[in-house]
Amino acid sequence: MQLKNKVAIITGAASGIGKQIAIEYARQGAKVAIADLSLDAGNAVAEQITTAGGSAIAVVMDVTNPDQVDAAVTQVLDTYHNLDIMLSNAGIQIISPLVDLKLEDWRKMMAIHLDGAFLTARAAMRAMIHNKKGGSIIFMGSVHSHQASALKSPYVTAKHGLLGLAKVIAKEGAAHNIRSNVICPGFVRTPLVEKQIPEQALSFGISEEDVIKKIMLKDTVDGEFTTTQDVAQTAVFLAAFPTNALTGQSITVSHGWHMQ
Ligand code: NAD
Repeated sequence: MQLKNKVAIITGAASGIGKQIAIEYARQGAKVAIADLSLDAGNAVAEQITTAGGSAIAVVMDVTNPDQVDAAVTQVLDTYHNLDIMLSNAGIQIISPLVDLKLEDWRKMMAIHLDGAFLTARAAMRAMIHNKKGGSIIFMGSVHSHQASALKSPYVTAKHGLLGLAKVIAKEGAAHNIRSNVICPGFVRTPLVEKQIPEQALSFGISEEDVIKKIMLKDTVDGEFTTTQDVAQTAVFLAAFPTNALTGQSITVSHGWHMQ
């Protein structure tokens, strides 16, 4: 029970990594808000958690929409009366050579990853400063916060940007006992990655098996995917860490693909 009675909002928690973090946070005693585009999908995760004895609600939040972000945070404060953890996780992937990339796709990536990170962090910091209890703001980065891959120019750019944002929040938040860190996973087999495998096979003219072996897991120490549970455990560690000693950092969970 490392997060007993802590209140956490997790964006993009209707699927993949965010969903597993919500489940693990609830197991550790936190009250969790599943923030995602679809209320139905969020409710399904919230129900799974409450059926297992945890506390969870679903809130509608398009992270690119400032009014929806603020309204969802207010809804969580009305329900649980505090906010200790904001885990800004919602994300997408767009695979394209830079020369073919449409400006609208570039902007979509920046809006979800960077506007979304800014808006969720701003709303969380306002609540945490008002409540005077401090808190933890965690961004879902990627190995692509540190390294580049072909065909992923907007994703790599956005994920690098999160490191800068977390460092500024670490400085501005310290006086209010607000910490900020970034988790940087390697490849995890979620819907986001399942979709990329055939897309990359087509773009590089190789088999899907080779996309996995020769691209995705090529530089890991053991040829293994990172799991949603690996990332969720890291998210628990960061959220439960008690002091400002660990702030402005990124932690990579990638089977050694990237070593800092
Ligand atoms: P996923 O597709 O399984 O889940 C993403 C979730 O984000 C979905 O529920 C989706 O509805 C939600 N979402 C998308 N746009 C949104 C918006 N505008 N507002 C609110 N919610 C929105 O993907 P995932 O693999 O679990 O990815 C989660 C995060 O982890 C992303 O930020 C991704 O970049 C990051 N990440 C994933 C991997 C991986 O290999 N899967 C590796 C490193 C980092």
